[in-house]
Amino acid sequence: MKFVKFSNRLLIWHFHIKKKFGWRETKDPYKILISEILLHKTDSKKVEKVYPKFIDKFPTIYHLYQAEPEEIDDLIKDIDLFYRGQRLKKNAEQIVNQFKGNIPTRKEDLMSLYGVGEYISNAVLCFAFKKRVPIVDTNVIRVYGRVFNVKSQKSRPHTDKKMWDFAEKMLPKENYVDYNYALLDFASDICRAKNPLCEICPLKSICVYRKEGGYESPVGNKADSVDDIARGKKVALSSLKMHDLRVITVASMIFYAKCEMKGKIQIKAVKR
Ligand code: SF4
Repeated sequence: MKFVKFSNRLLIWHFHIKKKFGWRETKDPYKILISEILLHKTDSKKVEKVYPKFIDKFPTIYHLYQAEPEEIDDLIKDIDLFYRGQRLKKNAEQIVNQFKGNIPTRKEDLMSLYGVGEYISNAVLCFAFKKRVPIVDTNVIRVYGRVFNVKSQKSRPHTDKKMWDFAEKMLPKENYVDYNYALLDFASDICRAKNPLCEICPLKSICVYRKEGGYESPVGNKADSVDDIARGKKVALSSLKMHDLRVITVASMIFYAKCEMKGKIQIKAVKR
């Protein structure tokens, strides 16, 4: 039940705040692969600035194949991704030579690309080819760790099979693409590494980390919990002088509470 609540609340929250990035607006697997390589261990705000220029200059895998590594490095130097020029060039060579210019659709083929690991492979499979696969990175592990108290004993938790198995179990049967995007956005905007916004979090009533008092919030107790709302307590939206995102989060909490009070959730995410 807690799993279902988690995915439903996450999806409803995300429905209200959906972030628009160039790489989320395209269906082109090449562009999605490029974005995932650029995004790896990099802030999306930085990538946002470079991605359109990159795609303009190298609109297809063949343009990238013909580029000089220095040309690529020059384009991405603003976001300190120098070493990725070589890597992108090698990726383009492999894709043209071994896969006839097509972005591979099988995980083992994607993982055979230079510097491409499990996260990027699954992100491409999910976001480009709409396959139902989980994504696990440091941020996703932080969210699952806080809400469910799942921990890895490995020094590199994002490579821990236990964490991937857990993420697989969490994945809804439908809406899994949105779910994976939602997880990423939630980790970056609400369940942040430092100063998570627990007070306005739609998951706060099911979160182990918060229950154990581990939370710290710079926001203050401005918003009522989903449970308070479900009991009929009013949330004074007009009194909130917070960032839009926070207001939207509260709105999504109210929506969720209403669905719960009616005894049904109005989206299909519950199917497992
Ligand atoms: S309550 Fe706090 S720690 Fe728990 S999921 Fe929400 S933001 Fe993260």
